[in-house]
Formats: sequence, C-alpha cells, structure tokens
Amino acid sequence: MIKIKTKKLVELWREILIVVVSGLQIPLLKIKIRCPLCGSAMVSTNGTRKRKNGRVEAFICRNPPCKNGTRKTPKQFVVSSSFEFKELVQRTLKNLYEDLMRDGVKCKTIAKKYKISTSQVSALRREIETAINEHEHLDSLAKVPQQDKAIAIDETFLTIEGKTIYLIIATGYQSRKVLGVKVSPTRNEGDLREVFDEAERNCKYPIATVTSDAWGATIAMVQHLGRPITHVIHKHKKPFENAVIKRHEYTATERITTDIGVKTDVTKRRAKRQGYYLQTKTPLVPPPSKTRGRPKGSKRAAKKPRSKSGEKKKRGKKGLFKAFEKGKKFYFEVDPYKRSIKLGKSLPAAVATGLADTLKLFALKSIQNNLSENLTFVLRTVLGFSGPKTIESIERRIRAFLYVRNQPEQLITIRIVRNFRCSFFTNNIDSKELLSLMNGVWMV
Ligand SMILES: [Zn+2]
Repeated sequence: MIKIKTKKLVELWREILIVVVSGLQIPLLKIKIRCPLCGSAMVSTNGTRKRKNGRVEAFICRNPPCKNGTRKTPKQFVVSSSFEFKELVQRTLKNLYEDLMRDGVKCKTIAKKYKISTSQVSALRREIETAINEHEHLDSLAKVPQQDKAIAIDETFLTIEGKTIYLIIATGYQSRKVLGVKVSPTRNEGDLREVFDEAERNCKYPIATVTSDAWGATIAMVQHLGRPITHVIHKHKKPFENAVIKRHEYTATERITTDIGVKTDVTKRRAKRQGYYLQTKTPLVPPPSKTRGRPKGSKRAAKKPRSKSGEKKKRGKKGLFKAFEKGKKFYFEVDPYKRSIKLGKSLPAAVATGLADTLKLFALKSIQNNLSENLTFVLRTVLGFSGPKTIESIERRIRAFLYVRNQPEQLITIRIVRNFRCSFFTNNIDSKELLSLMNGVWMV
C-alpha cells in the first residue's frame, strides 16, 4: 500500500521579540521562514536542535526541485544561525536606535512605524539613554576585533554652538559598524590617519580596501600608508557617474599608483565594460626640492609667465579624473553573480586587483560611499543635550552612542517566538533595503 502525504504546507512565520533589561518584551519584526538554499517558503517544522541555551526550532525544505548538494535529505535549518538573519536583526535594531535618537521624532510616530505602544517607545528611549551614559568612559568602539577588510571613510560637519567641527567616521563594509571616529576642528591628513588607524585596531586583519569621497586629505592619507592598498573614490559632486579606483603598490624604491577610471554602475550587472588606466611612479625618497623664492642677487621675483588663454586653472579635482583623459582604454567582462572579472593578459595585474577589490564591495550595486549617511543625522541629535560642549565631550558622547549601536546585544536580548496567526507580512519597518532582504533568501 502506498501512503500518500496529504499534509498541506502553510507558510511559516516567526516573530522576533526584543527583551529589554527590565524584562519588557517588545516585538521587533516578523519573518517568513524560507529555505536557505532555494529560497522557497515550502518548508515545514523539523523538531528541535540542541544549542548552548537550550533547544531551538528546526525546519526542513519541502520544495521538490531543491538540491542539497550530494545529500539525499533535503536542507534542514534553524532561524537564528543564519547570516542574513543576523544582519537583518542588527540592521533593524540600528534603524530603531537611530529613530529613537533622532531629533524631533515623536514617540507616537515611532510607535506607529514599529507597531509598538508609546510606553514601549519611552522604555526603549530610557534604556538607550542609560546605556549611552554608562559607556561614556569607554574608548573602544567594538568589543571584539571585527572581520572587516574594507572600510568607508566619511567626513561631515556638525555645527555646535555656532562653530563648525568635523566628524570623521570609518565604517566596516562587512560588520556595518563604526570602527573609527574623530571629532576635530580640522580634517587634514593626520586626522584621517588617526581614524584609519583606530579602525584597523578594531579589525582582525589589515585593511585592504578603503572607499571615500574625493577629499584630498583622504587620498593623500591612503597614498602615504606605504603598503599595497586599493582606494575606491566616488565624488559627491559632478561627475556622479564616474569613479576612480587607485591601486597603490610598491617596489623597493618606488610607489606605483594605478588609477582606474570606470563608470559607477560598472559592478551592477553582467556585461562587457570599458575603463581607463594610468600608471604613475613616485620615488619613495623624494628628490631635493628646488629653492623657492627669488633667485639670489635679483631684487624682484621673476614673474611667472601667464597662461595665454587667461583661463583660471580648475582647482580641487586636480588630476583625479586624469585617467579618463590620459589613460589607456581597455575592456573587461564583469560578472557580479560569480564575482569575477575577466580582462586581457597584457594589462597590469594592478588593474585586475583594483577591479576585483571593488567588485567585492559593490557586486550588483553602484559604486558609492554612503555607509554612514543616516548616521551623521542621528549624531546631531545625540549631541542635542544640555551641558557644556567641548570637542572632547562631544567625542565622548558620540563614541558612547556608537558603542551601544555597534553592540545591540549590550542593551537587549533577542527572542524568537512562534507566531502562526500572522499570515500576511506586515512591513513594519519603512525601509526598501530591509524589505528586499526580507523577501530575499537567507542562509543558515
Ligand atoms: Zn530548498
């Protein structure tokens, strides 16, 4: 006799709760359970698995075409070990923290957005405030060394009591955590180097790739690190569609910089693309500088010959986009799905390295530098409290906030509970990125 399975599969949903120190439980989000291999929602429960703190619920894929490698049994998985799940929760918490700290956002608005009560919002706000105050003595931004090998450097300004001060931030591409920060009246090469060094101290491995805007001091800082590194530069001003990748490599006596000029959407889809490259060599020991000023013996300084056209030389972007005009044109094939770049063998290896490092960060995306875009806005609020403000006190407060934000588990524990009633996904977080993650495949 053949036994026919007639059990109908229903979509499985799980609700994630955050539990604050006081014991209060607040719903964070609801996620649909999908197979990490095929992305199908045709899954069923599959008992429990033993973990450190007890047993967790397990699932199994019921999608017939789903292949689980060479194994005969379909894919079995749990919710909480998933990489994308972790990222999703972390990101949601980050958004929540930022919303809670943002100036002018009322309890009611946040309550509505996250579908929680206003008293829960006040409880969360109190908890974040307490945590920030508790961490004001801390210097470190991350508890443990991070896995990041690529960072984004951003500089922005804050106006505090009528004065402009700069805020320089280094964010890790993998952890999405702020790994280095400096509040300073200046933003020169030394300031940027401090932030880079702090970020690196918070990482397990040396930083291999930096992205930034076209601020000259950042470009100089990366160039003077004295080690092979890739620097992806995207201006916040025109031309928006162009990016320059600088690959610095060294011989015993020279630095060889390869500028690669590409369109910013070059890593977005599978295609044959074009680029330009230009190599410049700089001796590591600079030649003695020419004597400045007027030649000895002459009373008047020699006049510089004026340019005949009378045009003013363009300042600022001096040479950044030179590769597009003076560089050699070349073609290459990009596959963001396979994360591969194919190019001619006659091209310098530095071109391939620079493009490969860029693809690692921006596969299926445009080249940009906006990891901390939302953050600076929030930080302005974090500082919007009474009390005397010095550069040091501002930095302390910012660091404390970033520490709390970097370690969401500091503040709350996350609990996953079953929730069978919710048959429709309610997008309780207003973020396109989050939504696409929710609908995407997640790994276990
Ligand atoms: Zn599957």
